Amino acid sequence: MHSVMLEKTEISVGKIVCIGRNYAAHAKELGNEAPEKPIIFIKPASTMVADGGSVTIPDYSEECHHEVELAVLIGQDARNVTKQEALKHVAGYAVALDMTLRDVQTAQKSKGLPWEIAKAFDTSCPLSSFVAADKVANPQDLKLTLQVNGETRQDGHSGDMMHSVAELIAAVSSYFTLEAGDILLTGTPAGVSRVQSGDRLEAAIDQVGSLSVSVA
Ligand code: ZN
Repeated sequence: MHSVMLEKTEISVGKIVCIGRNYAAHAKELGNEAPEKPIIFIKPASTMVADGGSVTIPDYSEECHHEVELAVLIGQDARNVTKQEALKHVAGYAVALDMTLRDVQTAQKSKGLPWEIAKAFDTSCPLSSFVAADKVANPQDLKLTLQVNGETRQDGHSGDMMHSVAELIAAVSSYFTLEAGDILLTGTPAGVSRVQSGDRLEAAIDQVGSLSVSVA
């Protein structure tokens, strides 16, 4: 799957740009400092899994974490846009999981190496279908939750983002063009934890939707 649904329209996806440590409480739980500028990394479109699908943990990891995140679909190319103009480039919103091999990420970080093998493995990006942007009154006023086997692990609010969706689009577009069909993942609130084979993950965001996947 290299496409997503926006309401009833199929959209071909380009790149998935992700933001690290965008919620102070999550940065703290991993022992990281809250960054002044957004931390940016990319997952390829080949990481996507649709609602109802499953995540396969690669055999080189013993510690795969869930990260529930608000996903933003870019509808119009954005290059060097201002914060004020940024939300005009948004076509829709969805629920995403940024599945992360925490042990591998920690090892890569300690060696000063890139994180892709921890973040961009096949099935690392479950995504719900997108709702049109005009159905979401304020992307900074959304509750995000994640349950594993019916138990709540993450219960956050997008108002706690350190950099708002508009600020993130402005920041990312200062480094490279966000094209129509690109997706932005906006970081995860606190409560990330390990998942294992057989677990059922249910994520939800107010006004946006829900996403359910299992761990193979
Ligand atoms: Zn994340």
